[in-house]
Amino acid sequence: MAASSGTTALQLALRAYGVGRGDQVVLPTFTNIATCLAVVYEGATPIVIDSERRTWNMDVDQVERVITPQTKAIMPVHIYGHPVDMDPLMALADQHELLVIEDAAEAHGAEYKGKRVGALKDGGCFSFYANKVITTGEGGMFLTNDSDVAERARTLRDLGFLKEQRFLHRDLGFNFRMSNVAAAIGVGQLSQIDAILESKIKVAARYSALLGDVEGITLPVEEPWAKNVYWMYSILVEDSFGVDRNELMSKLQAAGIQTRTFFIGMHAQPAFHDIGLFVSQECPVADEIASRGLYLPSAMDLTDDEIEYVCDSIKLIQASGRKAR
Ligand SMILES: *Cc1c(COP(=O)(O)O)cnc(C)c1O
Repeated sequence: MAASSGTTALQLALRAYGVGRGDQVVLPTFTNIATCLAVVYEGATPIVIDSERRTWNMDVDQVERVITPQTKAIMPVHIYGHPVDMDPLMALADQHELLVIEDAAEAHGAEYKGKRVGALKDGGCFSFYANKVITTGEGGMFLTNDSDVAERARTLRDLGFLKEQRFLHRDLGFNFRMSNVAAAIGVGQLSQIDAILESKIKVAARYSALLGDVEGITLPVEEPWAKNVYWMYSILVEDSFGVDRNELMSKLQAAGIQTRTFFIGMHAQPAFHDIGLFVSQECPVADEIASRGLYLPSAMDLTDDEIEYVCDSIKLIQASGRKAR
């Protein structure tokens, strides 16, 4: 069902599934803060997991050891459009009777073993924020196959209004409704999603072809079981590139090319430290990719010439950086 944002969709999912105070929710440290905030807003305790270096997703191998009797749900996040390796995660969830609620906010149309993400297990959430694969300006969506959960979420989204009796409220609901204007935009966006995904994948392929042989640039991967939709075309700047990430970024800016750094892990956020969360937790892989990562212009209507200009600029900056040394 539609919601007012990706964040509120996540919050609805947790509330409708009864995840809250006293419960622990496992999620990646490397994500948009919204994933973690939704857990905190619902009074549950977020437990964050370090990343794996290849896909930048949650390291699924590290999940089992944090599971306790209080663990209620796992929230995998398909980072930058690449799906999480879901089979081992879903097996673990079955074994420990945990919910799996996917945060697919960056991965509309991405596939895990031929199935679209967001509908692989109990629940899935999407964002339609302005910079997402498809957008309604602000908006989101929560998917579930459980009709009772869906009914509860619909009620909660609409201030707890009940179908059977008007102005009687059994739940402390929210106003998380999507406006009809936003929904109309969403319908239009959805009708173009195949072309949008195709363009994003084409932009990524062009970047990868031109940057593939640049020493010290690690390209985004697509695992054999995955369809990556490359929400943002993201690279890591390794030491062997010869110019560090921040310097590359400012020189690209001087060439008229705007880039963005990667997420900073939740374990490193003062806002969470202030409420006693993750205070001395270490997530070395997330820290490393946060310090090396950069996303390049990723608009679906970038021309081949524009992509070539970005890649040539990266190569020039490397060459002049090396000469200077
Ligand atoms: C964008 C995003 C969200 C939040 O979506 P909003 O619509 O901005 O609330 C949640 N999770 C991830 C992974 C995101 O990228």
